[in-house]
Amino acid sequence: MIRIQDILDKVAEYFPEADLDLINRAYVYSAQVHAGQVRLSGEPYLSHPLEVAGILADMHLDVLSISAGLLHDVVEDTHASNEEITSMFGPQLARLVAGVTKISALSFKTREERQAESIRKMILAMADDLRVVLIKLADRLHNMRTIEFHTPDRQRAIARETMDIYAPIASRLGIYWIKKELEDHAFKVLFPDEYKEIDHLLAQSAKEKDEYIRTVRKLLEEKLASAGLSGEITGRFKHHYSVWNKMQRQNLAFEDIYDVIAFRAILGTVSQCYEALGLVHAMWRPIPGKFKDYIGNPKPNMYQSLHTTVIGPYGRRVEIQIRTREMDEVAKWGIAAHWSYKEGRQADERTRRAFAWIQNIVENQESVRDPEEFLKNVRIELFPDEVYVFTPQGDVISLPRGASPVDFAYAIHSEVGNRCAGAKVNGRMVPLKTPLHTGDSVEIITSKNRRPSKDWLSFVKTVKARSRIRQWIKTEERERSLALGREMVEKTFRRHRMSVNALLKSDDLQRVLDELGYKTADDLLAAVGYGKITPLQVQRKLLPKGEPEEEKKADEDQEEAASAPAAPPPPEGVTVRGLDDILVKFAKCCDPVPGDPIIGYITRGQGVTVHRKTCSNVLALDEARAIEVEWGEGGTQTYPVKLHVEAGDRKGLLADLTRAISLCDANILASSTRMVDDSQIAEAFFTVQVSGKNELEKVLRAIRKVPDVHKVRRVSG
Ligand code: MN
Repeated sequence: MIRIQDILDKVAEYFPEADLDLINRAYVYSAQVHAGQVRLSGEPYLSHPLEVAGILADMHLDVLSISAGLLHDVVEDTHASNEEITSMFGPQLARLVAGVTKISALSFKTREERQAESIRKMILAMADDLRVVLIKLADRLHNMRTIEFHTPDRQRAIARETMDIYAPIASRLGIYWIKKELEDHAFKVLFPDEYKEIDHLLAQSAKEKDEYIRTVRKLLEEKLASAGLSGEITGRFKHHYSVWNKMQRQNLAFEDIYDVIAFRAILGTVSQCYEALGLVHAMWRPIPGKFKDYIGNPKPNMYQSLHTTVIGPYGRRVEIQIRTREMDEVAKWGIAAHWSYKEGRQADERTRRAFAWIQNIVENQESVRDPEEFLKNVRIELFPDEVYVFTPQGDVISLPRGASPVDFAYAIHSEVGNRCAGAKVNGRMVPLKTPLHTGDSVEIITSKNRRPSKDWLSFVKTVKARSRIRQWIKTEERERSLALGREMVEKTFRRHRMSVNALLKSDDLQRVLDELGYKTADDLLAAVGYGKITPLQVQRKLLPKGEPEEEKKADEDQEEAASAPAAPPPPEGVTVRGLDDILVKFAKCCDPVPGDPIIGYITRGQGVTVHRKTCSNVLALDEARAIEVEWGEGGTQTYPVKLHVEAGDRKGLLADLTRAISLCDANILASSTRMVDDSQIAEAFFTVQVSGKNELEKVLRAIRKVPDVHKVRRVSG
């Protein structure tokens, strides 16, 4: 077990000005709260945070990271609270510990590659400080080193998660030694037999391996130098998992995998790369079919390099990659940059610099010279435009920032979106437009009676939700208009013993369409339904000339008579649910004003007529033609209302009533008075203009206050 002094010594070596006292205090506190706890291995629990801190020190991280490593499990596993850590160690350290705790609390089901990718991004998005991820990686590394103490089932679950989530994260951050070690531990658990075989294959002393690499490198360097080329040459043995991975990918047997030694030569120019390749092939026999020119034919991810496998010294196969410095950068950052490429946008410079910086510290063992710069590079928001949320099944869904439960519903399935009636976020009901945050659990409540609402368009963020809602509205609108239009034309035609079906089959159809400017019969019927043209206009195209004028009159029915032919208020005061482009008029019988409960009736060739719900005419109308309408947001428009006043007759009554109304700022459009026979009662009728129900109430109150007024009411129906 590593001792705290070992850690302090390591840190002092690469960071002499470090505040070792903080590490010491974190150690003492961790020892206190973990006291008495034991790991599955039987060791005191404290050994785990100490090992994690040791790994972080090996990565040359700063004092806060190492202290957080010592404290990383205290909130999850002991009575310690975040408040306590904040008050003892300050908010920065507490934030790191809270970040690690948050990630540790997540539980994932990783089944498919896309899920795994979303989870990786979710972890990085939740961290918002790369140190949190590094601490989590160190934690996972030590857990993998000691995985044999778990049950076999648990071992496999942890190994799977490590392989799917944590090794790729280490790789993308450029911390290859952690990636390799995580992969080999996980490989050993998941495929014990294969691991043993490859282990046997690779069994060679480390000294032997080093020597072989030195020999080959020296030969390569001499050969290049003899041709006047200078390059940087590195060599390594592949790790267990990477050998196995290659077997799987290329469908090879153990015997076919001899090139477990890989070299890389970095040269100045492209032509030098090809020259070097020629020299290598002249020195060692190339294996046929193993040469790949990714310089001439770059991979889709921009990777460029020459690959060849040759029979090296002692007959051993050696893989050699040759490329320029620039190509090497792309090879390294290609993966990291992969995350910041978005719709053709260049890689995010800041992310790239931050990753390069971290990698320099961790891989090349640079020192933390400038804590300010360190902070600048670790405190980075990696995916500022995205949020990652959970489904009730534990799947991760990625959405644009600001996305709502409606976006989430459509991301699950179009039908879930179309039937979305409500949403629970983290177990609580929320309004459908609530923005989601990374880590939220979202559950959609559906109802088969629910339909998409036009309002959703004002807050949805995803293209999918937007287009599905629009599509639904459009289809719905058209279906309705088509059915209605057909019915209207049918009814008009019937009076003349004509039929729509006959028209659709007749030779006249094309002429009528052309004359009215529609492409198909459906377009024409839908246009009638929308109120863009009347059935009469259609009919006239089919009748001999001279007849039509009379027809128009005959066609008017009770319903249409109830509404003004051209009512003055423009239609923007009312919106008809689901219909955009439709003529709206107010019924004259009941004079609806904003604030009244209203209902619309689809009238033939006249769009929609709006009545008050209490209007007596409404009862007589066909229910099938009813359509939901609502008042729009406060406009400046005014509406006419008819009032009936009963008062004791006296001199100056009309003048008093008129003044009372005018003092309310209501305009009087018309007025009349009359005496009720044989009584001292006068009746007055007013048509006044009001902006809505509130103003109307005000006028009614003012009239009631006029002396001798008995009764005042709104005339309706
Ligand atoms: Mn831990």
